[in-house]
Amino acid sequence: MTERTTLAATLTGPDRPGITHALMDAAAGLGTEVLDLEQVVLRGQVTIALLLGSLPDDLGRLTDRLAGTCARLGYRLTIEEGSGDNPTRLRRVVVTLLGRPLRATHLAAVGRVIAEHGGNIDRIRRLSRTPMTTLEFVVSNADVDDLRPALAVAAAEVGFDVSVSPAGLARQGRRLVVMDVDSTLIQDEVIELLAAHAGREAEVRAVTEAAMRGELDFAASLHERVACLAGLPATIFDEVVASVRLTPGARTLVATLRDLGFAMGLVSGGFLEVVGPLAAELGIGYVHANQLEVRDGVLTGRVQGPVVDRAAKAATLRAFAEAEGLPLSRTVAIGDGANDLDMLAAAGLGIAFNAKPAVRASADTALSLPHLDAVLYLLGFSREEVEDAAAARAASGA
Ligand SMILES: [Mg+2]
Repeated sequence: MTERTTLAATLTGPDRPGITHALMDAAAGLGTEVLDLEQVVLRGQVTIALLLGSLPDDLGRLTDRLAGTCARLGYRLTIEEGSGDNPTRLRRVVVTLLGRPLRATHLAAVGRVIAEHGGNIDRIRRLSRTPMTTLEFVVSNADVDDLRPALAVAAAEVGFDVSVSPAGLARQGRRLVVMDVDSTLIQDEVIELLAAHAGREAEVRAVTEAAMRGELDFAASLHERVACLAGLPATIFDEVVASVRLTPGARTLVATLRDLGFAMGLVSGGFLEVVGPLAAELGIGYVHANQLEVRDGVLTGRVQGPVVDRAAKAATLRAFAEAEGLPLSRTVAIGDGANDLDMLAAAGLGIAFNAKPAVRASADTALSLPHLDAVLYLLGFSREEVEDAAAARAASGA
């Protein structure tokens, strides 16, 4: 069977209302079928690509009409007669690329890796311009498990952030987003804020840093640090909750995820006494964290119950997902420390956020820019959509 004749038309000119109407009006009434229509607008210039089938016997009449319309509008037109439709593209993945600034060198590296793995870039769109430039590529003929590590290597070498996710249904619909707290949702390490009140901040910070680099057993280091807090009054928690600084973009991320109906959870090797009120204030439904033992209104320097360590964080992600009735493929985990690694690996998408090098190297995705709302771009939402949602919330007084 010979493939049917089709006509590909490309138009370029200043973007203004009524272009689609004028173009379709030119093609209308001749029995032509629209097989595809795509457009992109760049700096006020629109490029429209149109693929027509069921062409009329008098093809000249159709092309004359298209040419006449373009001449009237002042548009450049290219017409090419050929055969067939766009090929069906399968095994699609989404590659999200972030940079501040995003350079041609970064894109050259991404393009090279995709081509080396036999992938074809079908579609590109910009998701954000500030504070970082984000581009989203839909790539066909590609596998997440091949592209992810190869692009991660290129990203680390060349210096940009990249994320690879399966395209399609897995990207649509409701998800569960679970976040670490210290140095992820907030800029502080809560135990250091507590230790500052006990006058032992430097001592505690040194142990925290070694633990987050994965050099110390988390539970042992936690006990060591908590012991420094013995004797602090329990009223200290209110002061610490008030002094916590959210990470830039945290409120936008949480509010947007809430608008989307996503489930959210916090899991922390820090303390429920601080994480609990924070979750309540932000409207985050799930919380799991360590608890400090208090006796007669004073911290004993001991942790109550089992320690929330690396394994417990991953188990918590699973428990939250089960409670929400969502498969792990629909979970997103965000964290910065070595104790987040199992949780990041278990999640459908694990994001190392401003992470220590060891964490960055083993996560699916690393974000090195300090804006938590960039997670929304990895989920496929554009800055314009996020800003529209914020404006709608402000208008409704939410
Ligand atoms: Mg952390």
